[in-house]
Amino acid sequence: MLQMKPFEYIAASSVDDAVRALGSRADARVLAGGTDLIVQLKSGRREAELVVDVKRIPELTAIAMDADGLRLGAAAACIHIAANRDVRTHYPALAEVAALIGGTAIQGRASIGGNLCNAAPSADAVPLLIALSARARVAGPDGRREIAVEDFCIAPGKNALAPGEFLVDVFIPKPASGTRAKYLRFIPRNEMDIAVAGVGVAATVVDGKITMARLALASVAPTPLFVREVGGALEGQAPSAALIEQAAALAQAAARPISDMRAPADYRRHICGVLSRRALSAVLG
Ligand SMILES: Cc1cc2nc3c(=O)[nH]c(=O)nc-3n(C[C@H](O)[C@H](O)[C@H](O)COP(=O)(O)OP(=O)(O)OC[C@H]3O[C@@H](n4cnc5c(N)ncnc54)[C@H](O)[C@@H]3O)c2cc1C
Repeated sequence: MLQMKPFEYIAASSVDDAVRALGSRADARVLAGGTDLIVQLKSGRREAELVVDVKRIPELTAIAMDADGLRLGAAAACIHIAANRDVRTHYPALAEVAALIGGTAIQGRASIGGNLCNAAPSADAVPLLIALSARARVAGPDGRREIAVEDFCIAPGKNALAPGEFLVDVFIPKPASGTRAKYLRFIPRNEMDIAVAGVGVAATVVDGKITMARLALASVAPTPLFVREVGGALEGQAPSAALIEQAAALAQAAARPISDMRAPADYRRHICGVLSRRALSAVLG
């Protein structure tokens, strides 16, 4: 049986409290829902002397919308994100992603902040956050700063946070009128599985022209992958089947998959093209 090494536990009550606690030990770790962290501590893939629970910090569980956009507390549980009226109205694709991570029990604990900080190549929420131009807002010993979500995951399981920093919230700008977004993934089972490939897309169409398009991929590179060229190919054009085909081919060409127990690289690349075409068709109508 797997045995977890003992660790000290602190439930922080404010952002400053969490910064102090994280600065007190070199291998302190943040706990949000724990659906990744506890599994990793049990299996020995990660170690921690101190675990800092951030779920009791009001700012970390808040989901707040204003004229500029949505502030998603880093520890807000998926179940609350999926049910939130503002999220469902203005970011329906985000509500869908929150409702596909794990199953009901996992969604009661798991956060989108944890999904991002865990930096798995397969993280389902991250391609959509990139497509929606989300920014990670972090706090640490040197104060607060923002990181574009496409720059946040830097290697499998590694993120851009400096020592002592943690994610406070994710800010998603309010989508312009005419914007649609979609995340599609392929998993061998209907749920509770890791994506063979995933595609997040957002696009704005105004007066028959695409004014913004962003696409990012899951599970086909060491990190979630922003395919900037797709925007370059689509923006300024009128949506058409040929254009969607061209953009899907760019996404497929950007994929750098590996073969593993879930799928060989060629199959992943193929699925990446299929999902890109479907997701682009869904948002470009
Ligand atoms: C049965 C099961 C099914 C799953 N299904 C899916 C799925 O379908 N799709 C998917 O993408 N994932 C899935 N996962 C993985 C996991 O549930 C998600 O990645 C989830 O979003 C993690 O959120 P959490 O709040 O539980 O993170 P935690 O486990 O609390 O944290 C994850 C990592 O991020 C760090 N961290 C957390 N919050 C912060 C913060 N605010 N600042 C800095 N670091 C932080 C932690 O220290 C840890 O290293 C599944 C897991 C299980 C056990």
